[in-house]
Amino acid sequence: MMSPNLNHIKIVLVNPSHAGNIGAIARVMKNMGLSSLCLVNPKQFPDQQAIARSAGAHDILDNAVVVESLDEAISETRLVIGTSTRARRLSWPALDPENCASKVISASCEDSVAIIFGNERAGLTNEQLDKCQFFVTIPVDPAFSSLNLAAAVQIITYELRKAYLNFEQRVNDDDQESALASQLEIQGFFKHLEKVLVEIDFLNPATPKKLMRRLYRLFHRAQLEEKEVNILRGMLTSIEKVAGLNPQGARGKKRKQK
Ligand code: SAH
Repeated sequence: MMSPNLNHIKIVLVNPSHAGNIGAIARVMKNMGLSSLCLVNPKQFPDQQAIARSAGAHDILDNAVVVESLDEAISETRLVIGTSTRARRLSWPALDPENCASKVISASCEDSVAIIFGNERAGLTNEQLDKCQFFVTIPVDPAFSSLNLAAAVQIITYELRKAYLNFEQRVNDDDQESALASQLEIQGFFKHLEKVLVEIDFLNPATPKKLMRRLYRLFHRAQLEEKEVNILRGMLTSIEKVAGLNPQGARGKKRKQK
């Protein structure tokens, strides 16, 4: 399975006015494991204020690429995502940060991705938004929908981090042997369970359906693994033995006399 690559994800700031924001963004990027920062026509950069606010994420600032136009920033990029407050682009379908993150993280396995943020006051122009394949809006109170630039980057990149960790977790889970039980095994267990429940007088065979159906639901919800079905079958067999019943599992063996 392909792995997501956070180095393939570039944060692009278009015309940032406040060097302090650039520093704060370098800091959150490093917190979230991102490294690639691109600045389109920053008002002031490099800058002491940026260094101070980066709280030690100097490498992100040192490696930041400064360009003159958005086109230059994204010319090599395969997936371009624009950020905007909902008010600006009602007619365009916007992703929420979580869906945006899973799209970006999957794409990052193979392709380069850019997420574009606008100027603190003006945001992204329509012309800049036209260059984006998708839009993401952080669902804030529509009556006050504009976040501080660094806060917006923080939220978007936190979702990227979560999606990245989820992806890694899934890969690890797949690596660990945890084969789900087959339907044959599950049905065998259900039959065995029903038989034992009848035999120990827990289930009345005259009205079996509701209880069994509830139990089916319970066990299906658990997504039983092969090993777990074996444990459950083993428990049933022990119950049968202790209760002096003919264990279903002990095929052909003689009934134990107590
Ligand atoms: N008046 C501008 C606000 C710009 S805020 C506007 O309405 O667009 C600066 C940048 O922060 C935005 O360009 C965007 O990149 C990001 N941002 C702020 N609030 C956001 C939100 N609710 N959802 C997504 N991005 C947001």
